[in-house]
Amino acid sequence: MSNIYDVVIIGAGPAGLAAGIYAARAKLSTLILEKDSPGGQIVITEEVANYPGSVENATGPSLVARMLEQCREFGAEQKKEAVISVDFSGKLKKITSSAATYEAKAVIVAAGAIPRKICCPGENDLVGKGVSYCATCDADFFTDLEVFCIGGGDTALEEALYLSKFARKVSIVHRRNEFRAAKSIVDKVLKNPKISIIYDSVVEELKGDGILESLSLRNVKTNELTEYKAAECDGTFGCFVFIGSLPHSELFKDSLKLSDDGYICTDEDMKTNIPGVFAAGDIRVKSLRQVVTAAADGAIAAVQADKYIETAFN
Ligand code: NAP
Repeated sequence: MSNIYDVVIIGAGPAGLAAGIYAARAKLSTLILEKDSPGGQIVITEEVANYPGSVENATGPSLVARMLEQCREFGAEQKKEAVISVDFSGKLKKITSSAATYEAKAVIVAAGAIPRKICCPGENDLVGKGVSYCATCDADFFTDLEVFCIGGGDTALEEALYLSKFARKVSIVHRRNEFRAAKSIVDKVLKNPKISIIYDSVVEELKGDGILESLSLRNVKTNELTEYKAAECDGTFGCFVFIGSLPHSELFKDSLKLSDDGYICTDEDMKTNIPGVFAAGDIRVKSLRQVVTAAADGAIAAVQADKYIETAFN
């Protein structure tokens, strides 16, 4: 098989897989490269209730499995290879993986982003068992329970407002005594009777036997430790972490225009600053990072890649 493709897609989360479906269905020879198993962040989600049309009890893995099947049905190739460098300077773009160098008429970068973690003991073990990085995905599971919301930026405060529609009580934990979030959002939070704020504090430890049961906070000014335990009647509570995210954009920093916080800048057609290079999903600058918006980005990027190839190579 030749190493020259119409489209190479970097990343096999919902954005990359949607791009794969659309590109392959448009009869473009398409290669999807992914360093891990396909799916991206969605595979850690047990229930996907907000993806339009998803079947009852759809899980992240089941949704991804179907997307992969669709990619294959339309003829997209998928390889488990880590991309280690890119060269977007020529008309044919070069993508070097751990196994080979590929050339492509168009590239779709869909390498995603990951939520920044607290990095405290217990966090990794309790993801999906009380610890969450996505209120839109998981708020419903905490209906009438207590939740903690970690962070002081726009996301943390907006998500705290959203969580307050479900939870009995929301406690925002912020490491300073002043929020980074916009004043308009702060004002709404301060007026919300369900939300209380714990300033100058960071999470030291999360504990639980299979489910989150206690959270220890350290006051950064006094070093005092306080342990919050789940109410006996609840048995658990939620800990939602919104302390920023980390885009997988390191490989592209010398060629693509990035925002100050490292996300790829695109226009609404997913075009980057380099003709023939598109970005889709969580890795690009956008306001809502969800499966549905990632899939939409992927579809747009593939259609635009097709149009680009049509004009640039014919
Ligand atoms: P962010 O603005 O980077 O805020 C991250 C928050 O987490 C900050 O309050 C930060 O504290 C805190 N933090 C970072 N590392 C921490 C750690 N290790 N432990 C404890 N706290 C930590 O991230 P974001 O809120 O996700 O927003 C990302 C971007 O999207 C921003 O530009 C934001 O304005 C934008 N956004 C806009 C909207 C909107 O316009 N409606 C909505 C959401 C997001 P410090 O403040 O002390 O640094």
